[in-house]
This record gives sequence, structure tokens and C-alpha cells, in this order.
Amino acid sequence: MTFKSTRNSFIIAVIVIGLLHLFFGISLGWLVLPGTVYLALIIYGSAIIQSNFHAHAYCHANVSEKEIALSFDDGPNREYTPQVLSTLAQHNAPATFFVIGKNIQGNESVLKQMDADGHSIGNHSYTHSSYVDFKSLQGFKNELNQTAESVFKVIGKRMKLFRPPYGVTTPNLVKASKSLNYNIIGWTIRSLDTTADSAQIIARRVQTQIKPGAIILFHDTSDKTIQVLKQTLNFAKENGYKIVSVERLLKIKAYE
Ligand SMILES: [Zn+2]
Repeated sequence: MTFKSTRNSFIIAVIVIGLLHLFFGISLGWLVLPGTVYLALIIYGSAIIQSNFHAHAYCHANVSEKEIALSFDDGPNREYTPQVLSTLAQHNAPATFFVIGKNIQGNESVLKQMDADGHSIGNHSYTHSSYVDFKSLQGFKNELNQTAESVFKVIGKRMKLFRPPYGVTTPNLVKASKSLNYNIIGWTIRSLDTTADSAQIIARRVQTQIKPGAIILFHDTSDKTIQVLKQTLNFAKENGYKIVSVERLLKIKAYE
């Protein structure tokens, strides 16, 4: 099921109801049915990145090895990103950071450290605004390009990985990311580490879903995530899972 096939099915349903109305006099009230289904599918497909409704998003890898990847959204954060980095360093684990462009100014040294530690950096829009999904094609391109410029200025690399804010995909977002040659990266396991749940509950939630090829979504924006990360790294070690970068797991490139 894709956006195109859903739209085409909707158009066909409308034509059929129109013809039935014209020739057999059935009520046009039947249009409510395809209308409701269409709307529901558009909302589902836009909100659930794993549905691949608007575009292909990498949400897991088919691997035979016990390999998983860690990703951190919404940084760089002056307080918590350095703690995430030192925890990862203690375990010799790589990660991928999807950064928000507007958070870079003033945190350039944090971004530099991510890169120097061997982690990869991906684009997570410039503003991460709640209205970002209503942006025009050009608006989305600006979001991506502004962050790309900020990252390039600090580490001298051109990113190829993009994680949509909130995991929401729209036709304009997809067009913009395609025209700028980004790979859209989703996730397998949403830790929900920004909710009120305790670190224990979050860590348990992640552990029960871990499987080979999984990409885990965290946020480097709170102390709780540091606790969850430590527990996840210990769990991975005890259960023979190797932590690899998102791009290595998916066999794609992080930079141009
Ligand atoms: Zn985010």
C-alpha cells in the first residue's frame, strides 16, 4: 500500500459511485465511505514511518549476524550528548546522531566530538517545528540545506542520512529529501525515552524488542536516556549483540 495506490483506489471508488448515482440513482452519500477510508489511510501512512507509504524508509536490516544499531535524535545537547558520548566510548560502541540544525550553534564542540569519536551524523531538519509537516517543497529543502550547511561548517562532511522529525513523512518531505539525495532512516524500536516512564521500564521495553538488524531510537536530551543506554549496552553485551553504525547495518553511506 502506497500513497499513489491509495489515491488511485480512491479516485476509482469516486468514479464508480458517481456512475452508479447517474445510472441507478444511488445516493451520493456513499462517497463518505471511500472518503473516510482514504483519510484514515493518509493519516496512518504519514504517521507510521514503517508503513513506507510515501517513500521507502530504512527501518531495519536483514542480517544474519546479531547486529543492532543505536540512534540518537534531537541533539546536539550541551548537557546530555557528552554523557552519551562518554558512555558509548566506555563500551566502544558506535552510534548515529540525527541532529537538529538550530541546536548546533554554540554546541559545535559537541558535534566535533561525535565525529572525532567515529559516530555518524544525520539530518533531522533545522527547526523540528510542530508545523514542519505543512512545509512546502522549498520549505523542506531549506530545512535540510540549513542543517547540512551547519554540519559541513563544523565537520566538513556532507550528510546522506535523514530522519524525518516525529517520523512523519509527507509528499513534500519525500520529494525534498529525494532531490537532495538523502536516505530516509526510520527505526525498528521506539524506546519512548521522552515519556514519563522510568528508565527501568524504558530499558525493559527496548530489551524485549531487540532482534538482529534492529535500529533503536533514543534521544540525547535527558539523563534518563543515559541510564537506559547503559542498561541497553550491558544487555547487548550479555546477549552477544554487536553494536554497529546505522550505515554499516544498512550497508549504505552516511556521507557523500
Ligand atoms: Zn526528533
